[in-house]
Amino acid sequence: MADAHSHECVDKPSMKGKACVIGSGPNGLAAAIVLAQAGLEVQVFEAQPISGGGARTMELTLPGFLHDFGSAVHPLAVGSPFFSSLPLHEYGLEWIHSPAPLAHPLDDGTALLLERKLDDARASLGVDGEAWCRLVRPFVEHWNEFAPEILRPQPAIPKHPWLMARFAMSALRSAETIAGRFQSGRTRALFAGLAAHSFLSLDEVLSGAFGMLMAIPAHAVGWPIPRGGSQAITDALCGYLEKLGGAVHTSRRVDFLEALPKCDLVLCDVTPRQLLAIAGPSLAAYYKRQLQRFRYGPGVFKVDYALREPIPWRASECKRAITMHLGGTFEEIAASEKAVRSGKCAEKPFVLLAQPSLFDSSRAEEGKHTAWAYCHVPNGSTEDMLPRIEEQIERFAPGFREIVLARRVFSCEDLESMDANLVGGDINGGVLDLRQFMARPTWQQYTTSARDIYICSASTPPGGGVHGMCGYHAAKMALRRFTGA
Ligand SMILES: Cc1cc2nc3c(=O)[nH]c(=O)nc-3n(C[C@H](O)[C@H](O)[C@H](O)COP(=O)(O)OP(=O)(O)OC[C@H]3O[C@@H](n4cnc5c(N)ncnc54)[C@H](O)[C@@H]3O)c2cc1C
Repeated sequence: MADAHSHECVDKPSMKGKACVIGSGPNGLAAAIVLAQAGLEVQVFEAQPISGGGARTMELTLPGFLHDFGSAVHPLAVGSPFFSSLPLHEYGLEWIHSPAPLAHPLDDGTALLLERKLDDARASLGVDGEAWCRLVRPFVEHWNEFAPEILRPQPAIPKHPWLMARFAMSALRSAETIAGRFQSGRTRALFAGLAAHSFLSLDEVLSGAFGMLMAIPAHAVGWPIPRGGSQAITDALCGYLEKLGGAVHTSRRVDFLEALPKCDLVLCDVTPRQLLAIAGPSLAAYYKRQLQRFRYGPGVFKVDYALREPIPWRASECKRAITMHLGGTFEEIAASEKAVRSGKCAEKPFVLLAQPSLFDSSRAEEGKHTAWAYCHVPNGSTEDMLPRIEEQIERFAPGFREIVLARRVFSCEDLESMDANLVGGDINGGVLDLRQFMARPTWQQYTTSARDIYICSASTPPGGGVHGMCGYHAAKMALRRFTGA
């Protein structure tokens, strides 16, 4: 991964050739930058009028209120080995941290806060403080070695075998098993919320790994937001790409490869279903069959709020965190995720909520606020989850509904209409269970049956999240094969 930490290619591009990238999500832009750094002439074609895919910010409710359409909180972007190698701050990207990354309110009117510093976390988690630190400390302290290991294609021979063996020993368990180490129901609830980011049932293998992979960056790099919203990440990537000579064309949906200018390489920031539609005639039958077997995961139902004032949390300490996990106990969160995994909508859904305007005044008019919330639903669900989401918010913040100035609801279908990669509302580009962790989207990972066509979206390793590592690894692979290296 050493190459992701240097700018060596920026000043001395050497390679000649042309590349097209379909889609300008974080992975498409990361791929475009790697190719441009190597000297290729790169053009990105984006279907939507604004670049960014899942990393866009728009006035979704009222004028003057800026909402993140997709990603809001960015541990993996700030901790991304590739993004960290780029001068994105020179292109306006500024990170904002809340005092605590996460708050988890409970029915007794208190909240458990996940503190950023491990020593503070040990103190605030009381009886479980020591066990928490034992679980995450080795990886927090070696984040720079750990992050490249987990954010790359698997299986791979680890560069840090002891660290990774230690991770595997804990992580290849279910969230339920890992939570069993904690004595307090409060700590178990906190871990359930972290593990629920996986979209897996909390008794499934890998759900524990997700819990750890959310907790570790909380201490190592924080869970920050970009000033101005996730669009700032996209704008910085686009700005840097343009500096390298690349171009992004918006409102240019690609329906078939022939619509692209003649080029040597095509990198597709799309999911398998779109790849089949766009590149089908160029792909071999065996490969198409493998793509058809790719499985999408549950979807999300999302709401953006314009608010008259800050959310009236019963536990006032919730105002110290950007991200809130609303779901109560381990058992309740586990039941919510199990329902979704078995194709049902939860009666009491686990709700993820972000309150960015408490820490970034650029998101709303003075004194006003925004909130971003979603819950998991079965793929393609048409169920209206708004009442159930608001029940959960009201449970911990009575009077919430009265401060709502406007709301914008996104069903699975609405999400997909604004980003074709969100198939059935799946925000991770496909299920990330053990099988699709190893073979994502097929055992060939970034390569396809056509030598010049690659897939580089979150449907490739390491999967969902704004980190650009799918695009980075796909483009590196494409360059290696292009040069015959
Ligand atoms: C509601 C929601 C909440 C999320 N929360 C977080 C979070 O807090 N933190 C986090 O890290 N991640 C979060 N994510 C996930 C994150 O946004 C994605 O994992 C990430 O954006 C994936 O990047 P990508 O480049 O693979 O795909 P995308 O970002 O989806 O980009 C794909 C792009 O390709 C374009 N495209 C598709 N088909 C075509 C075509 N035929 N022609 C031209 N262009 C095309 C699309 O318009 C889109 O711009 C969230 C996502 C959503 C939707």
